[in-house]
Amino acid sequence: MSSLFTAKKLIKDLKRNGHEAFLVGGVVRDFLMKSKFNDIDITTKAKPFEVMKLYKTAPTGLKYGSVTVLYDNEKFEVTTYRLDGPTSDFRHPDSVIYSEDVKDDVLRRDFTINGILMDEFQNIYDYVDGQKDIEAKLIRAIGDPTTRFNEDALRMLRAIYFQSKLGFEIEEQTKEAIKNNTHSITELAMERVHQELIKILKGEYAIKALNSMVELGLDKVLPGLEKGIQYVATLDKMPFVDTFFTLSFALNNGVVPSKWTFSNVHRNKYQKASELANKVHGMPDDKTLYTYGLEISLLANKANFFLGRSKHLEKKIQEVYDNLPVKSELDLALTSHEIMKFLNKKQGVWLGNLRKQMIEDVLLKNVNNTKEDLYKYLQDKKVN
Ligand code: ATP
Ligand code: MG
Repeated sequence: MSSLFTAKKLIKDLKRNGHEAFLVGGVVRDFLMKSKFNDIDITTKAKPFEVMKLYKTAPTGLKYGSVTVLYDNEKFEVTTYRLDGPTSDFRHPDSVIYSEDVKDDVLRRDFTINGILMDEFQNIYDYVDGQKDIEAKLIRAIGDPTTRFNEDALRMLRAIYFQSKLGFEIEEQTKEAIKNNTHSITELAMERVHQELIKILKGEYAIKALNSMVELGLDKVLPGLEKGIQYVATLDKMPFVDTFFTLSFALNNGVVPSKWTFSNVHRNKYQKASELANKVHGMPDDKTLYTYGLEISLLANKANFFLGRSKHLEKKIQEVYDNLPVKSELDLALTSHEIMKFLNKKQGVWLGNLRKQMIEDVLLKNVNNTKEDLYKYLQDKKVN
């Protein structure tokens, strides 16, 4: 965990080496709000190669003048003062121009609350009236909001993220500019949108943030989530991220749009759980529990609970699942070999089909899952 103490020491050290430097961004904002900070950003006049000469570093964002410095075993994001050039992809400046003036660096940042500087003595340098906006609990773009959102469309979602994190209001003109530019979100790399959305969903004021998304039309540019966002915005308790996606895709007819950059595990989970949530609203029967498994069944129930379609059945589902006579094919009391031997038949498609039928009959309690009863069951089959 990186500390303010060490960050100040690093700033002193940079200065000793002739490089002006300040704390900036979330750490200063959170310090002024007396809340816990996430990571520590330092902005400096030193060029990246100069920082790299002085410290142990990792070139995390070298293209944008940013390196991660390891100092006293703590990590700091150290970025050279820069002026951002124009963008052609709504996200990354085409060129990074370094500056000698920290004011330039502050003016290229997203919101006033994120543009406050602090030195190693905790003196504040506020060129964007950020303190006033912290006081007023306002998220306000630095400069002309439309221009700033055209430079980088992700900032619109960042405004929502800071609302979700801090509970602040978005300033009127900033809001207006988002409303008029939501379409450019679709030009962004989906991975970035995805990451920002997850941050939004995890914030303390997530429901407030979702309400803003609906108000500003951002729900409409997030594929498959429109109905979910609109619905959850009306609730007074935010579901966990997994539940949010499951209920959203359930409301989207069980479709998980391919654009989202979920891992295969997550995509499969949301696909199955939203499908089940639409198929069974209350308690799933044994066969369904077996087919979908415990995790998906619990998730589907949580989604339906939030959708007002079911009671909380977590305990019941867990209990019934624990008592299933079979949880997987391997639990069948007869092996394939034993079945083949008993029926005196060679391996073939019939075997898989028969085992499936046997599992189903075990789940439906037509036969007990014991060798004895299953042999009897096979004997009857042979006769018929
Ligand atoms: P968090 O508490 O989530 O870390 P943060 O404000 O520190 O919030 P970061 O994503 O860590 O946000 O970025 C650090 C700082 O870099 C921001 O405070 C802001 O000054 C600047 N910044 C980050 N992303 C952008 C962007 N897309 N456009 C302009 N400035 C940005
Ligand atoms: Mg940060």
